[in-house]
Amino acid sequence: MNAVIERFPEERPGGRRRAVVIGAGFGGIALAIRLQAAGFDTVLVEKRDKPGGRAYVYEDAGYVFDAGPTVITDPSALEELFTAAGRKMADYVELLPVSPFYRLCWEDGRFFDYVNDQAELDRQILDFNPADVEGYRRFLAYSKDVFREGYEKLGTVPFLSFRDMIRAGPQLARLQAWKSVYAKVADFIQDEQLRQTFSFHSLLVGGNPFATSSIYALIHALERQWGVWFARGGTGALVAGLVKLFTDIGGRIELSAEVAEIEMEKGRASGVRLKDGRRLAADCVASNADVVHTYGGLMGTSGRGVSEAKRLKKKRFSMSLFVIYFGLKTHRPDIRHHTVCFGARYRELISEIFNGKDLPGDFSLYLHNPCVTDPSLAPDGAGAFYVLSPVPHLGNADIDWEKEGPLYRDRILDYLEARYIPGLKADLATCRIFTPADFKSELNAHLGSAFSLDPVLTQSAWFRPHNRDDVIPNLYFVGAGTHPGAGVPGVVGSAKATAGLMIADLAD
Ligand SMILES: Cc1cc2nc3c(=O)[nH]c(=O)nc-3n(C[C@H](O)[C@H](O)[C@H](O)COP(=O)(O)OP(=O)(O)OC[C@H]3O[C@@H](n4cnc5c(N)ncnc54)[C@H](O)[C@@H]3O)c2cc1C
Repeated sequence: MNAVIERFPEERPGGRRRAVVIGAGFGGIALAIRLQAAGFDTVLVEKRDKPGGRAYVYEDAGYVFDAGPTVITDPSALEELFTAAGRKMADYVELLPVSPFYRLCWEDGRFFDYVNDQAELDRQILDFNPADVEGYRRFLAYSKDVFREGYEKLGTVPFLSFRDMIRAGPQLARLQAWKSVYAKVADFIQDEQLRQTFSFHSLLVGGNPFATSSIYALIHALERQWGVWFARGGTGALVAGLVKLFTDIGGRIELSAEVAEIEMEKGRASGVRLKDGRRLAADCVASNADVVHTYGGLMGTSGRGVSEAKRLKKKRFSMSLFVIYFGLKTHRPDIRHHTVCFGARYRELISEIFNGKDLPGDFSLYLHNPCVTDPSLAPDGAGAFYVLSPVPHLGNADIDWEKEGPLYRDRILDYLEARYIPGLKADLATCRIFTPADFKSELNAHLGSAFSLDPVLTQSAWFRPHNRDDVIPNLYFVGAGTHPGAGVPGVVGSAKATAGLMIADLAD
């Protein structure tokens, strides 16, 4: 095929800068909106047939399944994208409050409804362990402190030089950031089930609570401050709203458009070549795709690509996930929107998930029942669910998921039927799975990791891949693999950091 260099509709009308963003995950879309709003002619190119990345949507027989993020926190970061584009979020998407935020369940039959009501929290904590009521208050004060320092001050600024890290040093030391989330929670709370209740959050962004910096305890304060939300129509409706915002302000999105190479000219990125042979010229390129894939796969012929991919492959990667999307013929209103089903083991199981060489025999699960908030996601009277189990990535446990997947699915469904959803299998209308092998093949995720680099302190902030490449001056990164890290607020924050750099670098 003859390579065609695509011109933008009019080449740089009025001297406008041209940007290509590779990947339409939350980070890529948020960056594309900010660039387009700032006057760049922006093209968003996505490998898959729909935008969203980890927030893809499956539709099976009238059931709508959000593939990934379901817990939407910090709506103000989303609202900011609309404001930057001169629009109102309410005209594009409706966010519905979720309560309880989560129900946490243990195999001994106990459960904790994590709500945003202090009196109700105190009542439940008292029931678990009276001494922890006061301990929880101290934990909340700590969490709010970390939230101010780690999220509000540092969550959207790029860490490009070690000086930036040194500047943050005193605060990190004061907050004892070298301690793990679990260790810090344990400083305040005695009861083991309550320790799990207030430490599991880092798992939502791929962090091992026993190894990830206590900075991640900020998620608790973030949820208490702004609540937990769900978009009407599902997270997919939020993605659709953001993409509509992007195109409404003149941005262009290309789906089923996999980038094969980031092209270089005189040490600068000059555009991208797609797998179908088309080429898009640009003044700057930002990648929302996996960082190892970007350096090793899309820049594999350049010295910089080879050396960075080699360096990054030595890093620790976060765990993967095994997800089952299943539709039931009947709605189950007794199951909360978000349920965490803790297994018998916590510390040992998490250690096996992050470091083990095999699939653990037991599991802890997250169960999603969005129809209690929005029944439109399933046919009348029915329920659309997903359940996920954290599992080792392919670099630790080289499992043949084609063979193991259906067996593991059946074990999880049996467990759910026995403990949480009586009659599940007889009620099943549709079922599909997504395995670590799919993270690798569908999303180009290194080792099939669900959250990119493990967010331990030595791989955070300046130690994480930078929002701008250190050598190529017009190549940028956005999304889970860069600062501040995974999770919707994290990647939307990374878009703000990256956009700030791009706008400053390319201003005339
Ligand atoms: C099952 C699951 C549940 C989760 N739940 C939550 C939650 O409840 N709350 C929360 O805040 N976070 C949650 N997360 C984390 C959150 O979803 C992610 O951290 C975040 O969405 C990642 O966004 P991203 O911008 O890094 O891009 P990604 O979503 O990783 O998207 C990257 C995009 O790049 C595309 N791409 C890759 N290679 C190429 C190429 N060569 N050319 C073109 N395109 C390419 C991919 O197809 C993909 O669309 C969850 C994650 C998973 C997997």
